[in-house]
Amino acid sequence: MSISFDNSYARLPEGFFARQAPVPVATPRIVALNRDLAAELGIDPDALTAEVLAGNEVPEGAEPLAQLYAGHQFGNFVPQLGDGRAILLGEGIDTKGNRRDIQLKGSGRTPFSRGGDGRAWLGPVMREYVVSEAMHALGIPTTRALAAVTTGEDVIRERVLPGAVLTRVAASHLRVGTFQVFASRGQTDALRDLTAHAIARHYPDAQGPLDLLSAVVERQAELIAAWMSVGFIHGVMNTDNMAISGETIDYGPCAFMDAYHPNTVFSSIDQMGRYAFQNQPNMAVWNLAQLASALLPLIDEDDDKAIELAEDRLHAFPDLFGAAWARRFRAKLGLTTEEPGDGALIQALLSRMAASQADFTNTFRALSTGDASSHLTDAGAWESWAPDWRARLERQGTDGDAVMRAANPAVIPRNHRIEEAIQAGVAGDFAPFHKLNDVLARPFDDGPETADFAKPPRPEERVMRTFCGT
Ligand code: AMP
Ligand code: MG
Repeated sequence: MSISFDNSYARLPEGFFARQAPVPVATPRIVALNRDLAAELGIDPDALTAEVLAGNEVPEGAEPLAQLYAGHQFGNFVPQLGDGRAILLGEGIDTKGNRRDIQLKGSGRTPFSRGGDGRAWLGPVMREYVVSEAMHALGIPTTRALAAVTTGEDVIRERVLPGAVLTRVAASHLRVGTFQVFASRGQTDALRDLTAHAIARHYPDAQGPLDLLSAVVERQAELIAAWMSVGFIHGVMNTDNMAISGETIDYGPCAFMDAYHPNTVFSSIDQMGRYAFQNQPNMAVWNLAQLASALLPLIDEDDDKAIELAEDRLHAFPDLFGAAWARRFRAKLGLTTEEPGDGALIQALLSRMAASQADFTNTFRALSTGDASSHLTDAGAWESWAPDWRARLERQGTDGDAVMRAANPAVIPRNHRIEEAIQAGVAGDFAPFHKLNDVLARPFDDGPETADFAKPPRPEERVMRTFCGT
């Protein structure tokens, strides 16, 4: 066995987790094994057998455990959540010296399962595999998918479905909710240990809780701007689904937009549009305020002073986000210089796209590789925008082509393609799933291979709702 573990989380005090082995399954079979990621982790892919990936065999050096956390779900505080269907096997040091969590998701009940069965069905496992790997290929910080296996067992949801386990790799699984659980219990010593652990792991230059807060604010501002620049809607930005590392985590009801509209929502449980496309930066700030609030006891003995100091750090978010957003969208228009009117130019295009129900990905891609005017079907939409854009490009003196090609993907994981792959997979045919993963591994290439996957859904193919990965 060739995974070299060094399990720093398992060395934290007992109250941080429950030791729990994965519950074995009947007949594990590998659906996908990410050999590139295994190589990056320095793991011999042959060590990653179906038995190991399903949790039937616990590799030497692993110290399986379920992590404790809390969280605000759609604004309501739940004092105890925790890994109800996931087991952290341990931490490996990758070939670049980075510490990476290796976690099995769907691996059976834990002390934090509440009413749940601790299992996952194949659909959400395939979805997370496709979308998290696509996000990585798009250059967006994210947890990764090392493998997907079927269990040979049924999972009961609205109907009987095939069970599956995803192996997730993350810089860590520390969440805003990990801080909240100890803060809400008044466990200041645990909060201090957790803060030290998070700093050592992710932000070694941080001098204390305020610096940690600033670092997370900065990473999250970058992250939300990055994912919005490719039309991604997370769908369930609860505080237990926001990683301290700044990686995207939890691919439940997530989706990429086809037609652009700022208020787009896919999640079946997000009836108020709390996590709608355009609301994501606001929700990030809301979550970061919960992190700030959890850290208060470590910031200053004087509550008012602590609040003032924390608010000061939080207030950096709008400017950081605005700058990151402008940088991303400038690149999408091929702009390599900065002008005060750039924000208005970008917004003018977006509002025309919304009026035309233009495909987000294809309209931007067509700015450099096709006929963008054909996407802006609203009367006069293109003619009233393009001259300003052309004049702007002329002032910078380059056509911005290469910049646009690198900022505007040709393919994204479209919902109808994911659904198609899942349906085939449930019927035992994983060819569409593998094909989709192959195409999404090179999202900025266009060619005959990608053309089909770049097409928006036909009306009857449109996926209007997505569901939590339970
Ligand atoms: P999520 O919606 O995936 O962020 O999960 C929210 C909480 O529900 C977490 O504590 C999960 O561990 C728990 N959970 C979700 N699905 C299950 C399940 N099938 N069995 C046990 N716990 C679950
Ligand atoms: Mg979650």
